[in-house]
Amino acid sequence: MHYLLERVYQTNDLSKEEITYLLENLTQVDKEVLYNYALKTKQKYYGNKVYLRGLIEFSNICKQDCLYCGIRASNVKVKRYRLTPEEILACCDQAYELGYQTFVLQSGEDLWYTDEILVNLIQKIKKRYPEVAITLSIGERRVETYQNLFTCGADRFLMRHETASKELYETLHPTMRFEERRACLNALKGIGYQVGAGFMVGLPGQTFADLAEDLRYLMELRPDMIGIGPFIPHSETPLAKEKGGTIKDTLVMVAMARLLVPESLIPATTALGTLHPQGRELALKAGANVVMPIITPTSVRKQYALYENKICGDDHPEDCRYCIERRIQSAGFEVDLGRGDSRQFVACN
Ligand code: SAM
Repeated sequence: MHYLLERVYQTNDLSKEEITYLLENLTQVDKEVLYNYALKTKQKYYGNKVYLRGLIEFSNICKQDCLYCGIRASNVKVKRYRLTPEEILACCDQAYELGYQTFVLQSGEDLWYTDEILVNLIQKIKKRYPEVAITLSIGERRVETYQNLFTCGADRFLMRHETASKELYETLHPTMRFEERRACLNALKGIGYQVGAGFMVGLPGQTFADLAEDLRYLMELRPDMIGIGPFIPHSETPLAKEKGGTIKDTLVMVAMARLLVPESLIPATTALGTLHPQGRELALKAGANVVMPIITPTSVRKQYALYENKICGDDHPEDCRYCIERRIQSAGFEVDLGRGDSRQFVACN
């Protein structure tokens, strides 16, 4: 086992079979070695810095019906909301005042936001704050839309591949196609976005071989960002009675992603913070280097419930900003409020 850990640390490479073997056989002592190697690798590429992004969850209306997700179209119990472009702009103003240099605009797949509305909004944000990076996370759209949004100023796009197992993907996404998700990710990359992919850990039926395939897919795609979080069951979904992912398994996957795609930006996700009070700090110590504090207005925040008991539901944006800064510092890292572009992107531009 030590031989494999040493090799992935030195070469940033392992086959699918080797990754599967490693995931199946890691002892607690091995995990500590793994986290330590991942931390050293992060420090080699990004130093001790942790980048902050302000997350605006601007609509919980979604046409898709992902089995795990609390805002799936079939969940009639969720109270739906949609922020107007003016309200989103007001969130950006607040984010800017709090020092954020990246605004992440995330939503369900809500087609009320037409190309025209989104283009207008992005142009307004860029006019007001030309130096700020805009990250979109709005799901699947036409390639032409992605191109228009990029042309008018969007910089980055987050779209998790969710799982690299075609069978599992199709079971979990009755309204979506495995190939389409990958085609979107390829199109976004081709257009020139900094792209974020990623997956959930602990999905029902997910095997270590599936998780190894997730990592191999990321090694092939070489995204700029990698979002990895535990699956957390939501009571109003068909997966309500499932077990969900563990903090330990998720931390192992964060560390492996750092070692296998070392130049990527990896968030310590809110889902990890929800599972464990120190979840995000533990992720930073296992190779993550981004945190995305929520700046969604407190009036609608709790309605963006992808899973239950999500942290920071009652907090105000300024509380989240300073709370997270203290947490990052006490974990031994340094907050960086710059744009925090990926190393891969900086090298190519
Ligand atoms: N609609 C956009 C998309 O599909 O990319 C962005 C919003 S989507 C709700 C954001 C992410 O939430 C998904 O990519 C998924 O991985 C995660 N998510 C949804 N339900 C979850 C759950 N029950 N537990 C953990 N993560 C979940």
